Amino acid sequence: MTAPTTRPPLPARAATTLDDLPLREDLRGEHPYGAPQLQVPVVLNVNENPYPVAPAVVAEIAAAVTEAAVGLNRYPDRDFLDLRADLARFLGEESGARLDAAQLWAANGSNEVMLHVLQAFGGPGRTCLSFAPTYSMYPEYARDTLTGWVTGRRAAPDAADPFTLDVGHAREQIAQHRPSVVLLASPNNPTGTALPLATVEAVLEAAAAVPGGAVVVVDEAYGEFRRAGTPSALELLPGHGHLAVSRTMSKAFSLAGARLGYLAAAPAFVDALRIVRLPYHLSAVTQAVARAALKHSAELLATVAELRERRDETVAWLRAQGFRAAESDANFVLFGTLPDRHAVWQGLLDRGVLIRETGPEGWLRVSIGTAAEMDAFRTALLEVTGRSDTTGEDAR
Ligand code: PMP
Repeated sequence: MTAPTTRPPLPARAATTLDDLPLREDLRGEHPYGAPQLQVPVVLNVNENPYPVAPAVVAEIAAAVTEAAVGLNRYPDRDFLDLRADLARFLGEESGARLDAAQLWAANGSNEVMLHVLQAFGGPGRTCLSFAPTYSMYPEYARDTLTGWVTGRRAAPDAADPFTLDVGHAREQIAQHRPSVVLLASPNNPTGTALPLATVEAVLEAAAAVPGGAVVVVDEAYGEFRRAGTPSALELLPGHGHLAVSRTMSKAFSLAGARLGYLAAAPAFVDALRIVRLPYHLSAVTQAVARAALKHSAELLATVAELRERRDETVAWLRAQGFRAAESDANFVLFGTLPDRHAVWQGLLDRGVLIRETGPEGWLRVSIGTAAEMDAFRTALLEVTGRSDTTGEDAR
């Protein structure tokens, strides 16, 4: 018998703080991204759908999960072609787009979909371009993939709407920075601004002139909330092999907790993303939940019309109180301008209403909640800003 070996003692100073660890230099001092998750009565800060999934759909989802659980000893379908076919069918119904499964891609939230885009098309020595103010995760995809990050501005200085995209400026920025990825959110977060198709086409044209080529992602996370007559960039997919349109089930579908985002693009674009994804990144449970939900897309999206209407009412009400409110095609409204926005945000929170301190200085963003939640928001906002309701509707 061999004598038992004694292990050498651990070094006296085991790593206990971040500073002790060999963290990448460019990540030092960085913090994890995320809005506060606070337990307050009225949560209007992350653009969720305030309505839970209807009980009948919950039952269908639960049954699908039970069925998936039986096979959990096996890895899931790595290419999830059934789910991709369901997503293609849904987009066809929603936007009239004619797509097949090979043109669809999905991941754990559209955040992961766009990370795949940056992993495939960004990287050291390359640049990702967007137009500020925009979604605050974009620079993080760039950082995490060691891609350069550049932002242009949005509107021309004399524009009536400060948050539209100045096409001339966008073209100049693309010519100057020669990005390999251009990210356009439409409707944009945090402003709610949707882009005309002519603007997206102009960006595609400028991107096509970048030496080496550039891909353009139109992030339509809030696309289902767009106003009648606002088109989807899905219309531009035929004939634009460098374009991808990203969507999510986190917002209109009431499924933020399920983590399912997706994009539509040319099959070759999707093949590029398949190279960088981790094998089996989409669990069998996630696939089952998403497919069951898509079977009931009409029920899940039934709240969208009501939320749109409430969004328009909220814009009108804010303006009637003397605030500025940005035009919105999403399920949130950016409003201002406030001399001390943090004080207003805090005052609302003190009254149990959590909104988001984001966007340009002086502006705040409120997600559209239930009628009762919006009542609470209006009452609290009037109190905090020392106004009385000028619409004579008692903060409704
Ligand atoms: N794009 C935009 C513009 C967003 O606002 C969000 C969520 N806040 C996302 C993408 C990511 O959503 P998810 O990962 O839940 O699909």
